[in-house]
Amino acid sequence: MLPSFTRYSPSLLTALAVSPKKAPFKRVRPTDAGWPSEAKWQKLKLEVNGSLIKIESPLNACKIDAKANACKELFRELRNPYFIGDEPALTQSAGLFNAWTSAPSIYAVAAKNADDVAAAVNFARINKLRLVVKGGGHSYQGTSNAPDSLLIWTRAMNKIELLDQFVPVGCEGRENPQQAVTVGSGAIWKYVYEAVTAKAGRYVQGGGCLTVGVAGLIQSGGFGSFSKKYGLAAAALLEAEIVTADGRILVVNACQHPDLFWGLKGGGGGSLGVVTRITLKTRDLPNWFGSVSGSIKANSDDAYKKLIERMISFYGEQLFNPNWGEQFQFYADNHIGISMVFQGIDNKQAKEIWKPFKDWVNSAPQEYTWQKPLEIGSLPAKFMWNSAILTKLAPSAVVKDDRPNAPSENIFWRGDQDQVGLFWHGYHSAWLPAELLNESKQQQLANALFATTRLWSVGLHFNKGLANAPAEEIAAAKDTATNPSVLTAFALAIIAGGDEKGPVFPGIAGHEPDMQVAARAADLIKRAMETLRLIASDTGSYVSETNFFEPDWQHSFWGTNYSKLSEVKRRYDPDGLFFVHHGVGSEEWSDDGFTKLSVSK
Ligand SMILES: Cc1cc2nc3c(=O)[nH]c(=O)nc-3n(C[C@H](O)[C@H](O)[C@H](O)COP(=O)(O)OP(=O)(O)OC[C@H]3O[C@@H](n4cnc5c(N)ncnc54)[C@H](O)[C@@H]3O)c2cc1C
Repeated sequence: MLPSFTRYSPSLLTALAVSPKKAPFKRVRPTDAGWPSEAKWQKLKLEVNGSLIKIESPLNACKIDAKANACKELFRELRNPYFIGDEPALTQSAGLFNAWTSAPSIYAVAAKNADDVAAAVNFARINKLRLVVKGGGHSYQGTSNAPDSLLIWTRAMNKIELLDQFVPVGCEGRENPQQAVTVGSGAIWKYVYEAVTAKAGRYVQGGGCLTVGVAGLIQSGGFGSFSKKYGLAAAALLEAEIVTADGRILVVNACQHPDLFWGLKGGGGGSLGVVTRITLKTRDLPNWFGSVSGSIKANSDDAYKKLIERMISFYGEQLFNPNWGEQFQFYADNHIGISMVFQGIDNKQAKEIWKPFKDWVNSAPQEYTWQKPLEIGSLPAKFMWNSAILTKLAPSAVVKDDRPNAPSENIFWRGDQDQVGLFWHGYHSAWLPAELLNESKQQQLANALFATTRLWSVGLHFNKGLANAPAEEIAAAKDTATNPSVLTAFALAIIAGGDEKGPVFPGIAGHEPDMQVAARAADLIKRAMETLRLIASDTGSYVSETNFFEPDWQHSFWGTNYSKLSEVKRRYDPDGLFFVHHGVGSEEWSDDGFTKLSVSK
């Protein structure tokens, strides 16, 4: 219906009549007249003490000759997350079907400190550039790469310092001093664990994957293997240094800029500013960490259904507590994988806990076969992330960075190998409410899991749901921007898949993903999540391990926290300098982040 003009005042009518429609605000690309001149780039280079790089992708060698040895060698290197991490042109995933393909920026500022970052932020704002920030480069959504952009690359800001008596700036007299670790935002968790646990015998809550970046993970909310005990990684953030869109360098914590501090805890990376340093609390280390692994094959659909039911009831009765983390995987070919970790109990106790389940499986050899026998082991907690000890005692669990002269600390879990350089077909997740573990609901949950596996395999990541975590960790997680769904979820269900050939790359002859296979897989993965969602329709999804096309993503990633997060965004980045796909405020921009949609400037 047309509005009645009589409702408007004459002055408003005049304003409407004379105001010419402004062209939408657009950021500039290298082909636009407004792209900064060479002289301007050189000036920026001086300002950042030479740390400006004109990016040349190593994939260019393959574009010239895909059969050349250099290209073959590159695709071998693309299986090494440390190699990828050291390359400003690359990201840990090659892309996601129908969503994004990794593409380098035009220039990168390889920042060494907050001043370099501020110079890059100011340059991007003044020159209307598309800005992108990369730490560890592990975004599944492709949010740390963008073509035609300026990259702020934090890799070189990786100093780690342990502190005995840390009090956030401005919190003197309000907060007790505590043990903490201050980390440059470009550090990866492996180096943090090496410093905090292997060297100093303390615990810090970070990510499970060793090559994930610290600032990206904290802004995701962040889970590690032992989060059921120690909570959300973001909840342990005590302070951050951040460069905001106006180029200011702020120190934020519970006492200074508490709104921005809150937003950084789970509000999503790359949306509020560039974090240059974080300080996290550290805690006493438990004596032991342990693991339980194995896999069981059921010989019929009925046996598989019973096995799923048994695993669910066993988890609910015995493992649904802070001692246990990580995963059960339910596969389409009627086998399940057990990949669990524990802390707070010893090996003997772990064996006792698993005995009834093991006996149950063994009592029906006509129905179940151990494809991989149940193995229960533990090690002194201080060895957990010690590269020298792990490569000696558990060489099958880790892979070394095989580049000549690579630091000996550079290892990663073999379990993460398949994801390196992967082209994804689909990726979905949903938090599963703890009430599904009630006796009256277990059958429904087991049925839904079985139905889901008819389409695709599904993993239950118990450490990524905080139900039954210690009360103080739930309270701390409540004080973050992460969707409150996490507080009452017993697990995060992840359904995902990618190209099984290993690293492949769209546009590189001989190394291209099979798009027909990808399309089929994407459809099955989507339908599998729709099937599982029938029992968890209204819960959220973890912002950093989620569906690129997540409907109602604001609600899904942040739930009731979204309006507060939007206010923080408007306060600190009113013009939307920081844009990432499905990040806070991104609804005001075109999909590529170049054109402002709603408000003309
Ligand atoms: C193999 C693999 C394993 C994973 N394992 C886990 C896990 O165990 N637990 C878990 O919770 N998640 C996990 N993730 C998801 C991962 O934690 C998140 O994607 C995280 O945001 C990655 O951070 P990053 O610095 O490595 O990635 P990046 O891609 O560099 O950054 C992720 C996002 O954060 C932004 N960002 C990075 N640095 C900064 C900064 N200094 N200031 C502002 N914004 C910044 C980027 O712009 C981007 O939007 C995993 C991902 C992969 C690929």
